[in-house]
Amino acid sequence: SDYRLQDVDVTDTTCGYCAVGCRFDLHTKDGEVLGARPTDPEKAPINGISTCVKGKFSYNYVNSDDRLTEPLVKENGEFREASWDEALSRVVDGLGGIIEEDSPDALGLISSSKATNEDNYAMQRFAREVIGTNNVDNCNRLCHAPTVAALKQTVGYGAASVGVEDLENTDCYLLSGSNTTEAHPVLATRIKQNVADGADMVVFDPRKVQIAEYADQYTRTEPGYDTAWINGLTRYIIANDLHDEAFIDERTDGFDELKEHLDQFTPEYVERVSGVPPEELASAAETIAAADSCCFCWTLGLTEHTNGTENVISMSNLALVTGNIGKPGAGLSPFRGQNNVQGGGGDMGPLPNNFPGYQPVTDDEIREKFEAAYDTEIPSEEGWRTTEQFLAADRGDLRGMYIMGENASLSEPGVDHAQEVLDDLDFLVVQDIFLTETAEHADVVLPATTAVESNGTFTSSSRHVQLVKRAIEPKGNTRGDWAILQALARRFGHDWDFASPSEIMDEIAELTPIYGGISHERLENGAELQWPCWNDDHPGTTRLYEEEFNTADGKASLIPTGPNEPADISDDEFPLTMTTGRVLYQYHTGTMTHREEGIMSYVGEDFVEINPETAANAGIENGDYVRVESRHGTIRVTAQVTERPGTDTVFVPMHFAESAVNTLTDEENLDTAARTPEYKVTSVRLRPGEES
Ligand code: SF4
Repeated sequence: SDYRLQDVDVTDTTCGYCAVGCRFDLHTKDGEVLGARPTDPEKAPINGISTCVKGKFSYNYVNSDDRLTEPLVKENGEFREASWDEALSRVVDGLGGIIEEDSPDALGLISSSKATNEDNYAMQRFAREVIGTNNVDNCNRLCHAPTVAALKQTVGYGAASVGVEDLENTDCYLLSGSNTTEAHPVLATRIKQNVADGADMVVFDPRKVQIAEYADQYTRTEPGYDTAWINGLTRYIIANDLHDEAFIDERTDGFDELKEHLDQFTPEYVERVSGVPPEELASAAETIAAADSCCFCWTLGLTEHTNGTENVISMSNLALVTGNIGKPGAGLSPFRGQNNVQGGGGDMGPLPNNFPGYQPVTDDEIREKFEAAYDTEIPSEEGWRTTEQFLAADRGDLRGMYIMGENASLSEPGVDHAQEVLDDLDFLVVQDIFLTETAEHADVVLPATTAVESNGTFTSSSRHVQLVKRAIEPKGNTRGDWAILQALARRFGHDWDFASPSEIMDEIAELTPIYGGISHERLENGAELQWPCWNDDHPGTTRLYEEEFNTADGKASLIPTGPNEPADISDDEFPLTMTTGRVLYQYHTGTMTHREEGIMSYVGEDFVEINPETAANAGIENGDYVRVESRHGTIRVTAQVTERPGTDTVFVPMHFAESAVNTLTDEENLDTAARTPEYKVTSVRLRPGEES
């Protein structure tokens, strides 16, 4: 280290990258972040003294020269700096004009899972109270929305049922669609440790991800046919009398219907559609059934499908039939992606169907509660999901958008479509830390603070609500997201009067039963709080569903799923299936990590992983430039020849603008329930060589 400890400021805070929820001390000096060091382990219940490369080192973005530091307004196609006064007036005129000419529902708002709970609460309140629409959503729609939709139906809460202790001490993991070592590094270390200590791990995945190397069993699957193998496991367990009858009788509904429905998922059928050999199906089922406890873990490999919600329901069925929910070491464990997608992207209700705390907008009593609190009328119909907002704009039904901390121009499926939509809007306001590819399309750009300059809370995958603290003063003229929204609300004539994020949390607690006992004060005093936390004396809830499920009769629902198939099926013209995902060193569309030289020197450009056999057949060698072509577009990337994908699949990361992988994906292939895009199945072909 080249700095002396006594010269630095130390702030204990929560990581702003992924949703594992690591806490550490940020060391700062003269407004620069030097790096992260372990904090008092008492303050870091999830990670103790561990962190990963992103949490530890990736802070150059904060002081990057191209940080937005002043509001920008567009004039004759060019941005110029403007005062906050002018920029906010333009936003009021732009959004207000559309409301007047058309209706509040001609506007769409996108909130940010990167921002704090308090920022996201403010955004949903702004949408519902100030604009008057439920057209508010966030990037959860592009990842785990099917998880939320599925678990709400089966067990009640759209969240992990397990606590961190369960994940660290279970006897068995079934892991699918999760590149854990790269996307959730600290968690992966804990899992690997438990496996080294004797826990079983079974991995089902189209790609032999690194964590599979530690598994007792790795089985390759065909992308898009997950209900087949999951239902096949459940069928095998029931057929061989390995299910937990007492648990099923006491705690679930729908077993007989499920059992009958599962008859069709014979080992032969499962092998035919999902490529899983019968002996591997049997051994996985035996391992899960024999374990004293099992955690069922997944990420976007299960959710980013047209049948994503059904995939997660199938996982839930399997966990229930084996009695593996609500007891130590057992449960459902979706690993959430962005730092605050559980809290900001879900719990806080920037959602078209839910107020904060998953309280439905269509429920009259609930809506009346929020109408009384906000002193306004709120529409009783659900709004448009993000993906639906883009399709509505295409039809001319949506004319303006307010996008906070989301690079939709690259992250939406079918980027050409997304960019056209953004260009054609009558008015677009973007609030962000950089002039992102999305902000380029805006009429007004509002500069926001980063997590390092903000106060508030993030909620981890394990439902821990944790403090985020301002470690350095905000750059230039940037403001917190909530403060910008408050300034706008006041200009629209609404009497918002929050003095701090802590006051916002007090309002959240008042209106949101599951956050009822959460306050900055309790967290500041060292309380470790996982929701549901019902009141000021409640200690929070480590493990969900120990006594009953969050359903009307307290029982979980077993719901038949499948058979189904993906929307884009490969054929002679496009014979390969492409899946997309993350790599360790990069983060999403790269707005933060691309500003880290060290990181860029590791993985600075896009690539396609191709199986050696597939590469040889196509005349492609490691390091060659290749074109990946879908029915929608084409990108040029370098070939990485590796055994990770099977012979009929390829993998492309999602982090790079120059070769945006969503050029290839389809904006209309959406999950039937949650409207999440099918990023994990796109039919492609490879063209060797460098032709353009
Ligand atoms: Fe941050 Fe996630 Fe890394 Fe922990 S594992 S340091 S939360 S990016």
